[in-house]
Amino acid sequence: MRLRFAPSPTGYLHVGGARTALFNWLLARRNGGAFLLRIEDTDRNRSRPEHVEAILGGLSWLGIDWDEKPVYQADGVERHRADALRLLADGRAYRDFTTQAEFARIRDEAVASGSGAVTRLSRDLAAGIAAGEGDRRAAAGEPFAVRFRVPGGATEWRDMVHGDVRFDNGEIEDFVILRSDGTPTYNLAVVSDDAAMDITHVVRGDDHISNTPKQILLYQAMGRAVPEFGHLPMILGPDGKRLSKRHGAQAVDSYEAEGVLPGAMFNFLALLGWSPGTGEELLSREELVARFSMERVLRKGSVFDPAKLYWMNGKYMARMGAGELAAGLWHALGRDGAPGTGTALTEEGFRHLSATLAPRSRTFSEMGALARPYIGPVTGYEPKAARKIWFRDPAGAANTLAAVLERLSGVRWAEESLEGELRALAGELGVGAGKVFQPLRLALTGTSASPGIFDVLLILGRERSMRRVERALSMIRSRSS
Ligand code: GLU
Repeated sequence: MRLRFAPSPTGYLHVGGARTALFNWLLARRNGGAFLLRIEDTDRNRSRPEHVEAILGGLSWLGIDWDEKPVYQADGVERHRADALRLLADGRAYRDFTTQAEFARIRDEAVASGSGAVTRLSRDLAAGIAAGEGDRRAAAGEPFAVRFRVPGGATEWRDMVHGDVRFDNGEIEDFVILRSDGTPTYNLAVVSDDAAMDITHVVRGDDHISNTPKQILLYQAMGRAVPEFGHLPMILGPDGKRLSKRHGAQAVDSYEAEGVLPGAMFNFLALLGWSPGTGEELLSREELVARFSMERVLRKGSVFDPAKLYWMNGKYMARMGAGELAAGLWHALGRDGAPGTGTALTEEGFRHLSATLAPRSRTFSEMGALARPYIGPVTGYEPKAARKIWFRDPAGAANTLAAVLERLSGVRWAEESLEGELRALAGELGVGAGKVFQPLRLALTGTSASPGIFDVLLILGRERSMRRVERALSMIRSRSS
């Protein structure tokens, strides 16, 4: 089996393209075949090297590796042209000298007269040119396009996804394969390249279904083996319409930037139009390779649901070890060096922070936002929380924090002793533990929602915890005096 992914580098790698690449890759890896890349860069005006970079980078990030060197379609233009001219020489195609202006005039006339039949028009025109005259006009340098002579009958194939598909050839116009400026058209280039690359299976989006009969006819006319075809169902937005920019982020690298894990994205993409049939959703790369099959590709469009991606990512994060989490968070914070360096946290503290925040985050960027008050200073206190927790009874809050401060200075810095000490303090003050924990939490993090208070104390360490309580204390005292 030889498969390929053939992106046009006119934009970044989006979710749909990545899904197509992934299905091809899974099929190749499952069957011990080859997965090739072809960059379809013949549209000189819209193709950009940075898009090629982004596509290759996105695939690499997902762990979709390719065999052989990527093929650049523009490098094959001479071969495309030669293939078109061979079809012309074999009588499977013909010259069309109609200029665009002429064609427009004839079409308008046909439309005005109500016949509307323009598909065979060029063939009639070509037939009207006496034998030998075409050669003479071509030799004289008159520009012409080359049109494929669509035979009668029908074109059928057994699609790997949709089953039997049939097109009546009468519906297919004599399409141009070589433009009058000598450039090959899309369908010709694809067939010429797929044949040259010995592609055996073409798996692509079902927006290409209407190209497939034309391509099959070209293979047959060129005397090449016709590959198997499989057309993947559309990806839909949550509103049921074809996924587009309107639906928000869909470039793969924007999810990478949000701190989505490649394994989660890979898993998510595999379930966009395929299912293992068991209801399982979390499947590793290896499991997917072992279980993927075209028979289980759905025919219906599948909905792209970012909430599901984030949910899945959270599950993947929850399975990571402390070291991996710390490295991921550090990367999301855009820092270099060993995780924690250059912050006030020790490496150990940073690791503890990562492990503590992981279950509360769906992505590393969410985790980065939550991490801010620990790795940097507390830049302010949530006003609503401060009013409620401190300033309803400023004198009481100050007393509590002063007592906390005293206890923190002597206690052994470990979870059990911290917990014992603070709970004992609440008992002595005759209040519930929350009445001690909440003012302390606000002092330590600037917010009323944080991980468990003992985790927070351990992450910050004694020194920083005490400084933060002192600072809050003097603030409360100055505001209430
Ligand atoms: N370059 C085409 C696209 O981006 C893919 C062509 C194909 O897979 O045959 O849609």
